[in-house]
Amino acid sequence: MSPRSVVVVGAGMAGLATAWFLQEAGVEVTVVDRRGVAAGASWGNAGWLAPALTVPLPEPAALKLGLRRLLSPTSPLYIPPRPDPRLARFLLAFTRNCTHRRWTASMAALAALNRGALTAYDDLARGGVTEPTRTGETCLLAFTSEAGRAPLVAELDAVRAAGQEVDYDLLDGGEARELEPSLSARVDAAVRLHGQRHLNPGAYVAALADAVRDRGGKIVTHLEVARVRDVGAGVAALASDGTAVRADAAVLASGAWLGRLAAPFGVRTPVQSGRGYSFTVSPEGLPTRPTYFAEQRVVCTPLGDRVRVAGMMEFTAPDRPADPRRVNAIVNAARSMVPSADLTHRTDEWAGPRPCTADGLPLVGPTRSPRVHVCGGHGMWGIALGPLSGKLLAESIVTGRGAPELAALHPLR
Ligand SMILES: Cc1cc2nc3c(=O)[nH]c(=O)nc-3n(C[C@H](O)[C@H](O)[C@H](O)COP(=O)(O)OP(=O)(O)OC[C@H]3O[C@@H](n4cnc5c(N)ncnc54)[C@H](O)[C@@H]3O)c2cc1C
Repeated sequence: MSPRSVVVVGAGMAGLATAWFLQEAGVEVTVVDRRGVAAGASWGNAGWLAPALTVPLPEPAALKLGLRRLLSPTSPLYIPPRPDPRLARFLLAFTRNCTHRRWTASMAALAALNRGALTAYDDLARGGVTEPTRTGETCLLAFTSEAGRAPLVAELDAVRAAGQEVDYDLLDGGEARELEPSLSARVDAAVRLHGQRHLNPGAYVAALADAVRDRGGKIVTHLEVARVRDVGAGVAALASDGTAVRADAAVLASGAWLGRLAAPFGVRTPVQSGRGYSFTVSPEGLPTRPTYFAEQRVVCTPLGDRVRVAGMMEFTAPDRPADPRRVNAIVNAARSMVPSADLTHRTDEWAGPRPCTADGLPLVGPTRSPRVHVCGGHGMWGIALGPLSGKLLAESIVTGRGAPELAALHPLR
């Protein structure tokens, strides 16, 4: 039976998009967050809607980084050296997925999503979400050598082979600097990528929350759900102070915190926090279009009169205090590529946990309970894929039929 009311746990992109698309089908929604709207990973991220780059995180090249590099606090992929059995299990499973065969299988599943990712944004815009997505600009991927660029070009070709449209051209260093004079002489090769978009994620998620409220949805902030119970005729999302939010069904969209709420419903795939960092600076001396320094793993996104600089993947618990060494590492990595940027006067320093799965695929769909569903685990790409996941999940909750794109994302896999 189609539920008339749904409680969504988590007011990030995944939860709010699911709530909005449930409202499209006439479902009454209550979204609950332990802090507020976009309090997790959905605020300070880079805001790229880049289906051409939306690929599984575990890939054969990840294994080449070597343990010494992974344990260095300045490394863009960092594992703090402390005993953590859950993290060890995740890393073991992640390592097993770093094969060409597994990457290709996960890529096929992502390609099916990527094809509809931007259309879901068009649905939201048509339905009244006021914050724009920015189209029409090309993205730039900049490298210090052609050899450094080669793996990314191979990846774009593999994405194309998976059935996605990928439109790019190759530039040398001079051509890249003609487009973006702020790039240093170290940039010797680049890729210009067409057909992608970007947005200001914090502003966008706030606008999405406003749209959910405007359509009669409730957003309850500062309420931490301790557990969700299937009570037969419906569900109850329970806080530790005894507060209960009742509805016909629940969607768990609690980002990197998903595991605790979802495990009682048979979801065994661990969701590991892969924390990233960002800050904003003045645009002088920085690229005018979204630019990714892939070797340094630093991304720059124009956000109106500021530019967001983001990077780092730190496998650590989502609520650990932020580590200022990570921000310094981003600054040092970016400095050689954009030497005249002022990276000293920073605002909005931020850390947020990417909800990562070991196979690089999101968890979207039903659980062991017919009344409890999951939308999460989007890792590096929850802004690009959140709206489509929410749309497909809402349709499957309302109709009782899972979309074919969701088969590989089953939370009980
Ligand atoms: C540096 C960085 C750059 C990134 N760049 C991009 C990019 O360019 N493009 C892209 O597509 N993606 C990007 N991402 C990834 C993207 O940010 C995430 O995949 C996405 O935001 C995840 O959304 P979510 O809604 O699943 O989780 P979140 O946004 O983390 O939301 C989960 C919410 O659940 C709440 N919550 C948790 N537990 C409970 C509980 N028990 N009770 C109540 N509420 C609870 C939290 O407070 C939080 O608000 C980036 C991430 C980082 C860190």
